[in-house]
Amino acid sequence: MKIVESCQEMSNLSLTAQKSGRRVALVPTMGALHEGHLSLLKIASRQCDFLVMSLFVNPAQFGPKEDLCKYPRPFERDCELAEAAGCDCIFAPKPSDMYPENYSTYVSVENITNTLCGASRPAHFRGVTTVVLKLFNIVSPQIAVFGQKDAQQVIVIKRMVQDLNMSLQLITAPIIRENDGLAMSSRNVYLSEDERREAPLICKSLTEAKKLYDDGERSGQAIKNRVQSILDTGRMIKTEYIEIVDTVCINPLEKIDKPALIAIACRTNESGTRLIDNIILGGDL
Ligand code: AMP
Repeated sequence: MKIVESCQEMSNLSLTAQKSGRRVALVPTMGALHEGHLSLLKIASRQCDFLVMSLFVNPAQFGPKEDLCKYPRPFERDCELAEAAGCDCIFAPKPSDMYPENYSTYVSVENITNTLCGASRPAHFRGVTTVVLKLFNIVSPQIAVFGQKDAQQVIVIKRMVQDLNMSLQLITAPIIRENDGLAMSSRNVYLSEDERREAPLICKSLTEAKKLYDDGERSGQAIKNRVQSILDTGRMIKTEYIEIVDTVCINPLEKIDKPALIAIACRTNESGTRLIDNIILGGDL
């Protein structure tokens, strides 16, 4: 497995692979790999001949008070795990190469980035779309895989790819969970013991929502109330939002008459860790 730091070298490697008829796939990550990331690599490796994983903690998607500095960066372990999962190349650029002095160009997807996580993280999606577009331009993948764990990110990137006439295939991978249901996340290491014990309530509330839906409930408010009542039983987690929205425009659904995303964000009250999770009712992302 190659480890590449230079943007130019990454472009050359990828173009050489494509000239020899190989299909290139990209899995963008910020590292601190867990089973969720590895599942994306496995899905990608089945679809391509040259698998690139980018490993870049993207400063542009962190707010000024967020965890950019303390974000875990276990680089060697990540390289070992990625190689074992079938990765051919890790692209790990330096922030100063991705955003050199006088860097001035950002890509913003409008409207659908102001809600859900975008409401409390104003510049987050602008940072995500900018770095993803840069990675797409550098690696020129035919396929890119993203996790449903970050559902709004998937919807926003799909919109960008469609709006900008980009010709690559996006694949959405299912959410990988711990045994007790907690969605895996690189940020779970921040949780205190008590927070960790309560965190599966989020997944439990989504499972209950799905049960209501499967039993025929279609009122968004009724399902939200049930989710909130389950989250309210926790002492360590505070709800930031519970939203039921459509999966294209992210508009709230009073009546669930099309594929619906139930998205939850919570913050724990000891470590201040932000946890997100979601489920799709009546469709896929
Ligand atoms: P991150 O390193 O957090 O930026 O995540 C990189 C990719 O892994 C994104 O497409 C995430 O949606 C995906 N991902 C993160 N956690 C999970 C999970 N628990 N299950 C599946 N995919 C995930």
